[in-house]
Amino acid sequence: MPGFESITDQKRPVRILTAFLRKGTIPHALLFTGIEGVGKQTAAKIFAMACNCLGEGPEQPPVNSGKTGLPDNHRISEPCDICRSCRKILSNSHPDVIQIRPSGYSIRISQIRDLCEILSLKPYEAKVRVVIISDAQAMNVAAGNALLKILEEPPDRTILILTAAEKTDLISTVSSRCQNIKFNPVSRKKIAQILSERKGVDPVDADIFAGMSNGSLSGAFNISGKLLKKRDWLISELESLSINDTGRCLAFAERLSKDKDDFLDSLEAIDIWYRDMAVFRHSPGKIIFIDLSDKMRTSYKKHSEQSLISKFEEIRMARQAIRANGNLRLTAETLVLKLAQI
Ligand SMILES: [Zn+2]
Repeated sequence: MPGFESITDQKRPVRILTAFLRKGTIPHALLFTGIEGVGKQTAAKIFAMACNCLGEGPEQPPVNSGKTGLPDNHRISEPCDICRSCRKILSNSHPDVIQIRPSGYSIRISQIRDLCEILSLKPYEAKVRVVIISDAQAMNVAAGNALLKILEEPPDRTILILTAAEKTDLISTVSSRCQNIKFNPVSRKKIAQILSERKGVDPVDADIFAGMSNGSLSGAFNISGKLLKKRDWLISELESLSINDTGRCLAFAERLSKDKDDFLDSLEAIDIWYRDMAVFRHSPGKIIFIDLSDKMRTSYKKHSEQSLISKFEEIRMARQAIRANGNLRLTAETLVLKLAQI
């Protein structure tokens, strides 16, 4: 992993982080916010590497400077990638870079209690110990309160990095004690370029995948060519839906509901198709399925804005039911029949 330049389209967060490193004063707690797949985890890891990199000058004994204790002459703003410390962090084997993730759906109080115990001891070898709490919004209230105690009396030579989609996803007593650094969605153009260059995706498809990813680079990587084929099938089914042909509606619902994740992917494509329809009447150049412009030109007139709003609501409810482990077949049948009707 190269340094901060490997983080795509996040100039401002990178500028803030490298300024901390250059000045040698780093807040005890940082909160990286932004949607999934925009580089928050990568940035946290590179930052941990840069804080501890031994690549420039002799290793200095840690000095408690009142903030995180970065030695005064620690002015490394990019990790070297090759020193002992960088390599350990890269391979997730550094004893002082601690990663906490949700266990199941939540981050439990026992995880934060274990962390408290570790933090009561001195770091093993790091200049600065780094704790990365991913998806910090998954902390339940008890875990959040336990973390608050750490934030109120931060241990020496320790930085906490929390990641979450939004600052407001955390209890305010926790978020107010962290310096918030916002990560923006990656631009469609940049994602398309990366898909093309790194994955060899055809530029037209790359642009569509980039549009579907809503600014998430990892989301774009997950969208596969298979989805594009499936999309064409979905759209042709949607366009021929008729409430008078219940048999066809139910057959469509049956195929939709075979697998939970597939069903959610299908809903994403269906959602985009209708969203494009809403966008097309005002800004035809801004639709995501840009390769389907010709088809869209004839389709969009069949759906009023009011009917599209109702369709979005039905899709939202179906998604919610699937995530809550509702009956897939029933959810699909309800959705398809409603889409045919409205
Ligand atoms: Zn290094």
